[in-house]
Amino acid sequence: MIREDNIRRTTPYTAGEQPKGVKLIKLNTNENPYPPAPGVGEALKSLSEDPAKLRLYPDMDASPLVDALAEEYGISPEEIFVGIGSDDVLSMCFLTFFNSGRPVLFPDITYSFYDVWAEVYRIPFKTVPLRDDFTIRTEDYLGTENGGIVIANPNAPTGVELPLKEIRKIIEGNPENLVIVDEAYVDFGAESALPLIKEYDNLIVVQTFSKSRALAGMRIGYAMGCPELIRAMKDVKFSVNSYTMNLPSITAGTAAVRDRAYFMEITGKIIDVRERFEDELEEMGFDFARSRANFVFARHPLFSGADLKDALRKRGILVRHFAKPRIEDYLRITVGTREEMEEVASALREIIRSGS
Ligand SMILES: *Cc1c(COP(=O)(O)O)cnc(C)c1O
Repeated sequence: MIREDNIRRTTPYTAGEQPKGVKLIKLNTNENPYPPAPGVGEALKSLSEDPAKLRLYPDMDASPLVDALAEEYGISPEEIFVGIGSDDVLSMCFLTFFNSGRPVLFPDITYSFYDVWAEVYRIPFKTVPLRDDFTIRTEDYLGTENGGIVIANPNAPTGVELPLKEIRKIIEGNPENLVIVDEAYVDFGAESALPLIKEYDNLIVVQTFSKSRALAGMRIGYAMGCPELIRAMKDVKFSVNSYTMNLPSITAGTAAVRDRAYFMEITGKIIDVRERFEDELEEMGFDFARSRANFVFARHPLFSGADLKDALRKRGILVRHFAKPRIEDYLRITVGTREEMEEVASALREIIRSGS
């Protein structure tokens, strides 16, 4: 066996379960319950009719996809970086910008990949406690020496939004360090920091096709920021792997962006179903903050999070539970279709009535 010090040891991210073979209502990884835009299927079909296209390397800059995004968001292609899901994009941000040796700051309760990337890239970091109601205290990110800041907004797994004026204060208070705003859930009713990329050269906004565009299986994410920052990210990316974006995902992603009406329709439906489900949870005595994402993060005073998760699983419903300090009694329940959420609500009523 090779010597231990030859190995980059790290503790990997634990993703939510992808059950095989069992039929469950799957509400544990925040996927979209609806299919992607109809144009996605058509684009993939026309690609499959001409497989010779796969003979060549794909466009290194993923130009059709980048151009479609630029047009959709009213920015220039030089302000966009695309990658293999926002996990790849965020990881490239960490590698490119968190290079100072000073600690990177992010909340104690947030997306649990941030500390994993920090560990694997040997980036020092400091977690900053959220308030008890899971809101961010802006002042904690002002006047604290740091090597960069990462904020998921709305936050995961809490669903709580930090108002844009607070995000602005954090960006303005750290002009010499990069602020990443991870907007994986922004399309479900929160306000995006995207307009601020024109004002600040220390801001990167990251979004994904996995949730609001119903394309988790295709793996597409993107960062938006001023051209200097995007250029630096591309230099690092092209130093690791030039051809990350394959032709099917460029093709499918472009078709998804082009159908704004469908995007508005499915995100609107998810918001409506979420609000109705939250009303139900409230009636049942759950404790939660109103979510701005495609999930609800809630606890019930009479049950531990682990027991409630098990009771739902027995009834064929899969949700996410984090056995972590401060949040071990909460469940993160993805918003599915109206029918699915009605089933979840009636399962929860039965569990509360029967005690298990
Ligand atoms: C889902 C998620 C991502 C990553 O999604 P990809 O599928 O890699 O695009 C990033 N950040 C947060 C907060 C998420 O919840």
